[in-house]
Amino acid sequence: MDPVAGEARKPRLATVWLGGCSGCHMSFLDMDERLLDLAARVEIATTPLTDYKSFEPVDVTLVEGAVANEEHLEHIRHIRRNTQVLVAFGDCAVTGNVTALRNLFKLDEVLDRAYRQTSTVVVGMPTGDGVVPRLLERVRPLHEVVKVDYFLQGCPPSADEIHGFLTALLDGRPEELRKERRFG
Ligand code: SF4
Repeated sequence: MDPVAGEARKPRLATVWLGGCSGCHMSFLDMDERLLDLAARVEIATTPLTDYKSFEPVDVTLVEGAVANEEHLEHIRHIRRNTQVLVAFGDCAVTGNVTALRNLFKLDEVLDRAYRQTSTVVVGMPTGDGVVPRLLERVRPLHEVVKVDYFLQGCPPSADEIHGFLTALLDGRPEELRKERRFG
């Protein structure tokens, strides 16, 4: 990426997940010893891997998962306002993918199956009451709700692909990065 304009500090990197399975983050960890090289080049600012509680301004954010509920929507808008380069990380973020399968059904049917028929704890509990975030009518990929700078497709992207992407970004080779969406 364009080194942080004239400053001698490391770029701040965040990773977050919204409506995803965490598989993209597991693939991130699969970079194994290459994580040490990455750690030398960036400041890891915010990531679920470190149990973050707040999101401060960063240079790059990898966002796993689609936008499925109101909490996700609020969170991704905050992230967008506080991120220079926002990356849709994995197919759920890029297209909705697995998370968006629920778009095939009516929301009430989904709630019935997930919360009323199959749970003894939250029977009859609607979402949006402060316990379960209110679901959006449709699961949406990131680009439908915020501007996305780059797309890193795959379910999940492989560790090699993630490493290649981050290396190109940090080395300032944006021509190697995908600005258009692609399935799979
Ligand atoms: S893209 Fe695949 S691995 Fe990543 S969050 Fe979605 S289902 Fe999981």
